Amino acid sequence: MGCVKCGKDIPEIGGPGRPRKFCGDICRKSVTMEIRRLDARIAKVEKDESNYRIKGAEGWAKRAAEEIRRLEARLAELVATQADDANVCTHSNGDCHE
Ligand SMILES: [Zn+2]
Repeated sequence: MGCVKCGKDIPEIGGPGRPRKFCGDICRKSVTMEIRRLDARIAKVEKDESNYRIKGAEGWAKRAAEEIRRLEARLAELVATQADDANVCTHSNGDCHE
């Protein structure tokens, strides 16, 4: 399986341990950033959705609700990769085997 973020093959580091989720620190960090962006986006769309409902724009409210579901699914996926990857080394040279 490739990197969760960019899909690139992850270099084998050998030894025991779980397979890595990211090809390197750049992708790991960019996922952290994406989680923050998704959080902000979900908050905004939720606000939009309630505004649409207040205005009686049910079609738009439904569309917003669908987007929220999609964003939350993606967010859950990303958060899960962070949890799994928490005990992998974060050294910038990336060759630590711990
Ligand atoms: Zn990557």
